[in-house]
Amino acid sequence: MSPPPRIPFLESHPKEWPTLFQSLGAQPFQGKIAAKWVFKKGVSSWEAMTDLPEQLRNELSQSSPLLLSQLERRYDSPDGATKLLLRYPDGASTEAVGMPGTQGQTICIGTQVGCPVRCQFCASGTDGLERNLTRAEILEQVLWLRQEMGDFHRLVVMGMGDPGFNLEPTLNALESLLDFEGMDLGARRVTLSTVAPINTIPALANWQHNINIALSLHSASEELRHELIPGLPKRSIRETLEEMEQLFAKNGREYTIEYVLLSGVNDSTQSAHDLADLLRDKRCHINLIPYNPVDGLGFSRPPDSVCGDFLNVLKTQSLSATLRKSLGASAEAACGQLRRRSKLG
Ligand code: SAH
Repeated sequence: MSPPPRIPFLESHPKEWPTLFQSLGAQPFQGKIAAKWVFKKGVSSWEAMTDLPEQLRNELSQSSPLLLSQLERRYDSPDGATKLLLRYPDGASTEAVGMPGTQGQTICIGTQVGCPVRCQFCASGTDGLERNLTRAEILEQVLWLRQEMGDFHRLVVMGMGDPGFNLEPTLNALESLLDFEGMDLGARRVTLSTVAPINTIPALANWQHNINIALSLHSASEELRHELIPGLPKRSIRETLEEMEQLFAKNGREYTIEYVLLSGVNDSTQSAHDLADLLRDKRCHINLIPYNPVDGLGFSRPPDSVCGDFLNVLKTQSLSATLRKSLGASAEAACGQLRRRSKLG
């Protein structure tokens, strides 16, 4: 007799699990029980689901393991951040990060292996895009983090890749987390960050969940933004901001503008004034991120005084802005760097 086929449970919405169980000859309510174990209780092995019959658990463990990725390395940074290096069966790897926050843990997940956007200062895109992650692979990062580090308060989709270039699997994965039959995570606790390729923001505006959206801008100048983000097919900043304003009109939620401060590149007082001019009257909050240097990319972090002056220009013009205290900046813990190091051997 041939072994039962593998059912990729995490590729399906948790509300479909009863039907999947039925297709295996099990009871639909058992699918509901299993979804509860995974999404509500953070359990990712069939063996642990003690209120399912032992034979069913054994069969599922054999045929359909929930997690396909392996935890290759755990790195605990001295500032409290923890990074997990996950390896998928085809050899591709990604990072998932947990950081302590004021109200509990924040976790950060990626959406692609490598990144097509190739921001010149970022470790994630130095080799371009390797491949997209699937819905299940995006979810596995959350399940691994929960297993290793317990519950979390906030989820940020700010890891490797850009969700705008892999939107459908990303939103499907978030659906499993946001839906009440899944993890039942409040939309306010989720933030997605993107450079906003065409159609991304309108698609998010039409989506049923009002999560927080962050736009990575990095410059008020079209030319400099294009130089810094060469993988983003050229489109005007004004058009992108109009989309952001429409998103606000639709969901009533202020959006975030992310601006990585790079020494001598976009950190001058003039750049701050240009940014203030661009964003005056916009319904956004500006998050200034002092750069976490990545070896070999040729960018550096401005001195604290320069970051402070930049912030003050925005504030004196009554813009809502903060300077981020970067977590995980030590050694290998900045964005994309653990994986980069593992690739460099
Ligand atoms: N592709 C998405 C998610 C990237 S990570 C996006 O671009 O929005 C989230 C933020 O961290 C982005 O604004 C990104 O530009 C920034 N970032 C990337 N590498 C960084 C580094 N080394 N130091 C500081 N910020 C960085």
